[in-house]
Amino acid sequence: MTRTDPLVERMRPFGTTIFTEMSALAVRTGAVNLGQGFPDTDGPPEMLAAAAEALAGGANQYPPLPGIPALRHAITAHEQRFWGLTRDPDTEVVVTAGATEAIAAAILALCEPGDEVVCFEPYYDSYAASITLAGAVRRPVTLRPGPAGRYEFDEAELREAFGRRTRLVLLNTPHNPTGKVFTAAELELIAGLCREHDVVAVTDEVYEHLVFDGRHVPLAGLPGMRERTLRISSAGKTFSCTGWKIGWATGPASLVSALLRVKQFLTFVNGAPLQPAVAVALGLPDSYFTGFAAGLRERRDGLVAGLAEAGLAVLPAEGTYFVTADIRPLGGVDGIEFCRELPARCGVVAVPTQVFYDNRDAGRHLIRFAFCKRAEVIDEAVSRLKRLAA
Ligand SMILES: *Cc1c(COP(=O)(O)O)cnc(C)c1O
Repeated sequence: MTRTDPLVERMRPFGTTIFTEMSALAVRTGAVNLGQGFPDTDGPPEMLAAAAEALAGGANQYPPLPGIPALRHAITAHEQRFWGLTRDPDTEVVVTAGATEAIAAAILALCEPGDEVVCFEPYYDSYAASITLAGAVRRPVTLRPGPAGRYEFDEAELREAFGRRTRLVLLNTPHNPTGKVFTAAELELIAGLCREHDVVAVTDEVYEHLVFDGRHVPLAGLPGMRERTLRISSAGKTFSCTGWKIGWATGPASLVSALLRVKQFLTFVNGAPLQPAVAVALGLPDSYFTGFAAGLRERRDGLVAGLAEAGLAVLPAEGTYFVTADIRPLGGVDGIEFCRELPARCGVVAVPTQVFYDNRDAGRHLIRFAFCKRAEVIDEAVSRLKRLAA
């Protein structure tokens, strides 16, 4: 038998990501890149100093499999302080190579081949790949802009997605790429279905500190959910260090130890000198976290105003680094085409969100902009976007 493509069949649908294409386009054209969601400034100086000190001080060998005790304690103290969740730092926490590894290890640890994972589309791109690697099957529930403009899902569609083979629900709130924050009623509905069908929830809460109105609510805090939820977060977004890849998962000891069993053979451990630094960051005063959210809110407001002025229909961005917009008022039909032409039309790069759906038609006309950039970069983008209206 001759093989033309050595890649296993199930991974063939996963090409290079849209970010690779759009970031290359930004470089080639000199456009302002609001495509990929990484900050263009460093995180808190106390954290950077602690990392430098740890690196010079010999923290350069394998840390313990679940993470260094100082970081595990900082993670549980942070969860207690902000979300009122109480956990044992010795048995209910694991440090991972970013939220991405935590998500992959959770799915690989908990899903048998053929098990189903309920998730909301558009979804973060690693979800589909991790579900596929595990031989599991995704059951997407589509988020669509409702009458008030907010992204919503249909209750009947969610109920229908749960069945005999459902093993997990994968929930990301605040949600990338839409900027949606799931409401209390939506969380209660999801929790009720998890309890009814005896399903485990894996929650991706990397934007837990970026809710612009109101407060973040972890699903794990709802009745009956603590014992069936793996709550995942990461230092990358909260402390503007996306290249560090220090993430974590917390949950009941049985779920955490299952995740650990897989994780030990994926990366085993990572980031020895970064772990003590993230522990320092998690212990920063409340003013750091409120100031961080306030800064992003201001930049969101600036970009949202600019996008509206350019003639796009802007959807509400309630949290995260991102805002989405409908291109149809500008005569756009397909987000991929629109984004490919955007640098030539106005010198700005965005990403089409249809690539994050199974049901691509639902997102064909939607594109995403990141506002986690310096104020002067947002201002420059806003002034360039004016060319679209002209
Ligand atoms: C950025 C991001 C991640 C990845 O986090 P890492 O810590 O960099 O692995 C996971 N989920 C969502 C929704 C994200 O936006």
